[in-house]
Amino acid sequence: MIQTGKRGLLGLAAAAAAAPGARAQQPAYPTRTVTIVVPFAAGGPTDTVARLTAEAMARDLGQTVVVENVGGAGGTLGAARVAQARPDGYTLLLHHIGMATIPTLYRRLPYDPINGFEAIGLITDVPMTLVAKKDFPAGTLAEAIAVIRRERDNLNYANAGIGAASHLCGLLLMSKVDAPMTTVPFRGTGPAMQELLSGRVDLMCDQTTNTTEQIRSGAIKVFAVATRQRVPSLPDVPTAAEAGLPGFEVSIWHGLYAPKGTPRPVVERLSRALQAALRDPRLVARFAELGTEPVARERATPEAHRQFWLADIAKWRPLIQAAGQYAD
Ligand code: ASP
Repeated sequence: MIQTGKRGLLGLAAAAAAAPGARAQQPAYPTRTVTIVVPFAAGGPTDTVARLTAEAMARDLGQTVVVENVGGAGGTLGAARVAQARPDGYTLLLHHIGMATIPTLYRRLPYDPINGFEAIGLITDVPMTLVAKKDFPAGTLAEAIAVIRRERDNLNYANAGIGAASHLCGLLLMSKVDAPMTTVPFRGTGPAMQELLSGRVDLMCDQTTNTTEQIRSGAIKVFAVATRQRVPSLPDVPTAAEAGLPGFEVSIWHGLYAPKGTPRPVVERLSRALQAALRDPRLVARFAELGTEPVARERATPEAHRQFWLADIAKWRPLIQAAGQYAD
């Protein structure tokens, strides 16, 4: 049975609760394929996190969970698509830290970037790496900074649009080394990585979920991880502080959302599925290979996610306003 209205689902949940047997207490959801929209191109780090999460959630939900990439405009096109979707639990959004910066960076959006969504749970905090094309003329972070200061906007810095993690990390880098570079936006850092591999762009900040394998194979250069501690999957890569750039720290949190108005039993069912997914040994092992780990169970809840998200919006707002850099 497909229940779409809030009252219908709540009524069903109440009836089920009165019925004997544990299974009968679950609302009749999901009864068909669930779609997770990723607001960046396929093959990038958010896509990778989403595909691993979708696979593991499908095992718990007993339904297929597919990923759909709706990239462009720094992640706002995909987010709009979900905010405007029917709030029935069949169209979800997996997004990152951009959910905390977009409400300030973009002053005109065709959706409400805060009240358009129900938080379901946090997923993972992924470290960032500063990477470069293979023949970038530097071997260490200090040498790379010297090249950036010398070449400035002759260098192409790839990102995934305003509000993307790569954009925020690039802003931090440029302000720390006090030199602007030319930014080249892509629909995601999946396609940007292809350009870095072919040497058509020079530098990029990206999550370890996209850079680890390319670093290990030597296809790109890495100068630092933007974390306080080294990342176990890349033990030889120094932290930015170790390499001479203290305070260059960026961690990219990811969360799962449903459109506003999604019935509470559905949000709770999805949160339970997410919590199960984050303990799934296959997901945990793959996350570890890619330099990250799932959040603790108590953070994969609607309440913890919403609280963290709103606090992060409040943290970024004055910084963006002081910089006066808006997307419109
Ligand atoms: N890493 C990208 C960003 O800069 C997004 C992506 O393609 O997953 O936000």
